Amino acid sequence: MARIVGVQHAVATASGTAALHLAMVALGIGPGDEVLMPALTFIAPANAVRYTGAWPTFLDVDPDTWQLDARRLERFLDRECDTTGGVVHNRVTGRAVRAVLPVHLLGHPCEIDGITELARAYGLYVIEDATESLGATFDGAPLGGFGDVGCFSFNGNKTVTAGGGGVLATRDEGIARRVRYLSTQAKDEPDEYVHREIGFNYRLTNLQAAVAVAQLAKLDELVGAKRRIAARYAEAFADTGIGLLEEPPRACSVFWLSTARIDPTRCGTDRRALRETLGAHGIEARPLWQPLHRSPAHAASMHDTVEVADRVYAEALSLPSSVGLEASQQDRVIGVVLDAVTTT
Ligand SMILES: *Cc1c(COP(=O)(O)O)cnc(C)c1O
Repeated sequence: MARIVGVQHAVATASGTAALHLAMVALGIGPGDEVLMPALTFIAPANAVRYTGAWPTFLDVDPDTWQLDARRLERFLDRECDTTGGVVHNRVTGRAVRAVLPVHLLGHPCEIDGITELARAYGLYVIEDATESLGATFDGAPLGGFGDVGCFSFNGNKTVTAGGGGVLATRDEGIARRVRYLSTQAKDEPDEYVHREIGFNYRLTNLQAAVAVAQLAKLDELVGAKRRIAARYAEAFADTGIGLLEEPPRACSVFWLSTARIDPTRCGTDRRALRETLGAHGIEARPLWQPLHRSPAHAASMHDTVEVADRVYAEALSLPSSVGLEASQQDRVIGVVLDAVTTT
């Protein structure tokens, strides 16, 4: 994994969520701190922030890429925060903003160079959630290697899976050592069972590691299948109201999921109705995640003005994207979708 991500160190963990949690513990993020992250993402990174006692603050996403909007991040840091003595404080909550946690959504990179530059200027850590985007690059460099740490997942639904598992990648030897220590119950003297700190049982099992290594050898093949599936949808749905999330400029995406915004005006149907139609044909399609500023689980967290994430959520539908999807099966999906929408 270190070689794939282009960094010196990689530590295996029980899950991607465990990697995110330990990343923050190792960076010293804790109670009363704040972490800036996108409102549109699977809930795991926000939960990981809360495990440490810190608080996530949700920012809006870019309408074209659906990823954390670097301009909104800059605006938030500039207008909603005070910087005194090199420490950034959220003016409303009074909490110290310690890190930015961008998520590379759905197999596509966020604007990671702009985000990293901003974070540096404000003295913030960058924790990349690359769990959905292993193998993707930005300006030719692998995701997960831009920030202080990059987190990956081998969960059953990810492109490379070991049934479960995760990895934390970093250039920093100290962080790697500390994460390895914390993930194995913080053993100081293993023979005598002496522990100076409270650690975690966050190891990847050997059994999962063996599966992960074998699956990683097929990374290019798996990514190739994902990209082929995305390209076939893109060709079939060109010039319709089905707006597939595309590869952003400067990126090579891995298209973990092929997700489209269903424009109700142009399609004559919406994503809920289309999902039902597909379901009636035995085809599973999924909405995106409820934006986190609306999540009851995170109701106590703060958010900036969020509008784009709501609009994307209201219209987005992920189509069958499994690497095992055969061309004939995909043709059937495409046929049902085209029959269900108006394409004039
Ligand atoms: C899958 C996922 C995770 C968590 O990975 P697990 O291995 O399931 O814990 C974290 N963040 C995002 C955005 C994910 O999609």
